[in-house]
Amino acid sequence: MIYLDANASEALRPEARRAMLDALDRVGNPASVHGAGRATRKMLEDAREAIASRFGGRAADLVFTSGGTEADALAIHGLGAGRRVIVGATEHDAILASAPGAAILPVDRAGVADLAALDRLLADGPPALVCLMFANNETGTLQPVVEAATLCRRHGALLHVDAVQAAGRVPVSLAATGSHALALSSHKLGGPAGAGALLLAPELASIAPLMPGGGQERGRRGGTPPVAAIAGFAAAAGCAVESNADRLGPLRDAIERAALAEGAVVCGAGPARLANTSCLALPGVRADAQVIALDLAGFAVSAGAACSSGKIGASHVLTAMGLGTLAAQAIRVSLPWNVAEGDVRAFIAAYRDMAARLRPMLASDAA
Ligand code: PLP
Repeated sequence: MIYLDANASEALRPEARRAMLDALDRVGNPASVHGAGRATRKMLEDAREAIASRFGGRAADLVFTSGGTEADALAIHGLGAGRRVIVGATEHDAILASAPGAAILPVDRAGVADLAALDRLLADGPPALVCLMFANNETGTLQPVVEAATLCRRHGALLHVDAVQAAGRVPVSLAATGSHALALSSHKLGGPAGAGALLLAPELASIAPLMPGGGQERGRRGGTPPVAAIAGFAAAAGCAVESNADRLGPLRDAIERAALAEGAVVCGAGPARLANTSCLALPGVRADAQVIALDLAGFAVSAGAACSSGKIGASHVLTAMGLGTLAAQAIRVSLPWNVAEGDVRAFIAAYRDMAARLRPMLASDAA
């Protein structure tokens, strides 16, 4: 099986695996006062320092969570209290499901948020919390988060940035974006699942918890932290280098050239995108048929809108981009950090074969 679904979960980095194994061999709860507890606490705090500084924040302002979903939910719960919430139309369900009734910020055909609309939404009503993702999980489209942060600050609004897909792939810094919060997820940058973080601007670092529990994380998230997963998260964050985009970009471009030659549409092409992500719609051919055909040929890719039940429907991201029926005909190819060139060549051959086999079936369906 050749794995090309890194945006679902990145390939585990060996450094993360080693750090986890080392942590698993130690005993001690970081809240305990004895020596074993203190040693575990040091591991936790070293990881906090490493991750916070890697993403432009301070250790004291980083709250460990179980992953990106919880970081997003905590941001909305903690920062949204007493504010109206505005969310980008192409946000992940981790945001959308935590902000029912939110105002929707529209995007253009490439999936880029409409800043003039944001300006109008912000001007029209009480102080807001805006949620805008750094990079889209289906198309890789990068959002203008720096400009959005400037607008938010001008209107007295807060900006939460879901940087789950961007972290480790493009430069991500809380301080440099001027945003108020960043969500991060370990398994999207080559660490294990089960750890994530919300990095807060210093003036907001005392947010109300979703789970008060035993007062861990300075009262911002109760529960014993998964220290081994967090150690793996920190190790992965340390070795996920943005320069890998220079290697992945040309491989992604080769896939897109081949797909275009087969009549595919590259969704979100044009503006800046993640170098590892390609969203390819094959007009008239359902996404699930493409995913299954490629799976049978030995390639793991996903449909734009795989949900937890495994059913594939029309992607809300591509629908918001105005792509109509193509929204149910797109697959996502997301290259892991360690993909081999030969694997990409093999995928291109399999894609051509899949397109050649599925398109005639479409023609005979129509006849
Ligand atoms: N935000 C984005 C943009 C994502 O792509 C994902 C996962 O796919 C999440 C949040 C949720 O992260 P996690 O799986 O760590 O809960």
